[in-house]
Amino acid sequence: MDFFVATTNPGKLADFRHAASLWQNEAVSIQILPGLQAIPEPIENALTFEGNARLKAEHYSRYAPGIWILCDDSGLEVEALEGRPGVRSARFAKDVGAYDEEAGLDASNNAVLLLAMLEQTDRRARYRCVLALAKDSKVYRTSSGELDGELLSDPEGEGGFGYDPLFFVPEIARTMAQTTPEERLALSHRGRALRSLLQSLSSDPFPDFGQFPR
Ligand code: IMP
Repeated sequence: MDFFVATTNPGKLADFRHAASLWQNEAVSIQILPGLQAIPEPIENALTFEGNARLKAEHYSRYAPGIWILCDDSGLEVEALEGRPGVRSARFAKDVGAYDEEAGLDASNNAVLLLAMLEQTDRRARYRCVLALAKDSKVYRTSSGELDGELLSDPEGEGGFGYDPLFFVPEIARTMAQTTPEERLALSHRGRALRSLLQSLSSDPFPDFGQFPR
């Protein structure tokens, strides 16, 4: 059974590619949807991660008839900011007119986050990811994963993407930008959501899938 991931985010792609390379002997193979660049991007205007994940999966699967499409919506929820940036995580800097093209999207978002956190002593934050699996514009299954952490005042580490250099994970005493791909997949909200999806398909396959051997 082939799942085709539809995302243009290079960081997410790296996570999915790593999962695909590790899990190539599983009942499910994860691949990147070819020709994705030619498909117009949907407007992500839902108020929840699940809403946006569903919207993206419905959209992209319309362009790839008969193919299982997997879409990810994810982001950072900061306790002291009442859950922001949440579904606006990718557009945090753009939303406040602080996007610096030269610095790039991730650096601009991190700068806005650091500014918002300047006076905050409560540093708790959470990564959340919702996956939606669709075919022919119908969503068949969703899953979610979370990871709790704390925001640093200075970035640490060169790996990962997005808010990773500021996202410290107490259980490994490092930021997500200092993890190996294996650790990322084991720990991260995306890895958790992926495993939860595979488990749910394995224990409760839907009719189109037929047998789902694991
Ligand atoms: P989306 O493409 O609308 O789902 O936005 C995802 C945004 O959330 C990314 O651009 C990052 O800013 C942030 N994000 C989601 N997952 C991660 C992660 O694993 N590491 C770092 N940032 C993430």
